[in-house]
Amino acid sequence: MSDSTLQPTPPAPTMGTADTTQPPIVVNPELVELSVDGRKLQAPKGANLLDVMLEAGIEISYFCYHPGLAVVAVCRQCLVELKGSPKLAPACQTPVAAGMEVTSSSPRVLEARRQMLEFTLVNHPIDCPICDKAGECALQKQYFEWNHETSRVDHAKGRKGKKVDLGPRIVLDQERCILCTRCVRFCAEVAKAPQLVIANRGNRAILTTAPGHPLDNPYSLNTVDICPVGALTDKDFRFQVRVWNLSATQSVCNGCATGCPCEVHHHRNRIYRLVPRRVRDVNQNWMCDYGRYTYKAQGKDRVTLPLVDGKEASWDDALGRLASSLGGLAGSDPKSIGMVLGADATNEDNFVAARLARSFLKLERLYLGAEPMGSEGDKILRSSDPNPNRKGAVLSAGGALKSSEELARDLEAGALKALWVVGDRLYLPEAAQAKLGGVLLVVQATHPSALTRKAQLVLPACMWPEVDGTMINAAGRVQRLRAAVRAPDAALPHWEILTRAARRLGLTLEHSSPQAVFEAMRQELPELAQTEWGRDLPPVLLRFAGSRG
Ligand code: SF4
Ligand code: SF4
Repeated sequence: MSDSTLQPTPPAPTMGTADTTQPPIVVNPELVELSVDGRKLQAPKGANLLDVMLEAGIEISYFCYHPGLAVVAVCRQCLVELKGSPKLAPACQTPVAAGMEVTSSSPRVLEARRQMLEFTLVNHPIDCPICDKAGECALQKQYFEWNHETSRVDHAKGRKGKKVDLGPRIVLDQERCILCTRCVRFCAEVAKAPQLVIANRGNRAILTTAPGHPLDNPYSLNTVDICPVGALTDKDFRFQVRVWNLSATQSVCNGCATGCPCEVHHHRNRIYRLVPRRVRDVNQNWMCDYGRYTYKAQGKDRVTLPLVDGKEASWDDALGRLASSLGGLAGSDPKSIGMVLGADATNEDNFVAARLARSFLKLERLYLGAEPMGSEGDKILRSSDPNPNRKGAVLSAGGALKSSEELARDLEAGALKALWVVGDRLYLPEAAQAKLGGVLLVVQATHPSALTRKAQLVLPACMWPEVDGTMINAAGRVQRLRAAVRAPDAALPHWEILTRAARRLGLTLEHSSPQAVFEAMRQELPELAQTEWGRDLPPVLLRFAGSRG
């Protein structure tokens, strides 16, 4: 919630690591001076007072306000005093003006906030011990910070629906809903699918779906994030783990070429969910539902050990076989060897692959392994390109790569005797696939597939939540991935497999870490010269302070 309106408009996105929260576009750059609790502040004229206070580090409670949604001021939790105004005003609905004098901590303001909290809690079931949101609930947090008094409610609380099935991914607890309307606004304004409504009035008001319309839009899980309490719950995450046991690692979704910045939430080497990080120029505040569930592939049905002719082997045996079968061919007929770089692999992986192929093995046939483009994107976040790193694969390879159509033609023409595939994305027509049986096939893969079943050598590779590295999204932004969990068994990052293979082939392609590869890329590729590896950010244990409501 620390969106800044106090900083100048940032430059247009270019190549550059994008890990930090970006300030919103400042439409009117005219700065005015105001005071909050006697403290002088400068802010753009017309900026949202709540944003300005948060940016200045002034504590203020709120529920219904969200920086990505229209302001409605229904929760009345951010009331402040404005000099010259007889009534308290909601800060979220107050544009900043020159000379404004704001009081946010007077006894009158604090009492108003305390009373609003008491009102909000009147019918709220205090079932925190069994609530998924406990530990990251804005209501819990505000209660401890702004009220912290024993309940005066001496009658039965109002009863509403429990376990209301709203759609394929979401279950609602109507009693917990504090009617902030964030979820209603999100569906109407961002997802463009007005599937939620507040029905009835007064203490009978409930959140529900429009009759006959489930909550099933492709962005529905964002409502779970922005619900300040535990009313909307994700069926996938519900009752799986207490949030204070989770650790958060900053990374980037690999579901498509948008590359939404995300946090990977994990516990004891298991991923439980992906949630968006806020980067204005990429995902604003959101992720799509498809992207959120891509983590599931990480723990399922992996290639965990090297396979030689379909049988499990040690790395030593597998690389020995690679050296004996590919080494001679590379010396005598390098043109007959092809290497496929991965639009799902990191820049570091592809850079090392291209270097090994071009500079050391003298290969000429380098292809791009990519899932075919989809139809149009959804004009919200989803890109028509389902590959997370098509741009990066081409750039880090240092030049154009042949397409999979060209690979299919080369295979059908019998021009290849061996093919080395980095990554899991090779899509070929049936005729070309049939020809794979006649070539020496080496595949660095994360999951078993039709391709690995044809391969003489399968080398187990890490998935994106298991690696450090960089990728370039469709807008040309270099973004940093950070390893959140350990890879299963013997799986290694692609760059490391390639480096070990090179060593076994008698070549001195030495890279000690993905950061070392990144630095080598920066030296060689002018497009990356101005980019940075970014800070090391160890996983952060989610505790109460990390309220996402
Ligand atoms: S379900 Fe949550 S987000 Fe929706 S209105 Fe209720 S409290 Fe607000
Ligand atoms: S839009 Fe693409 S990158 Fe963003 S969450 Fe969805 S799949 Fe992931």
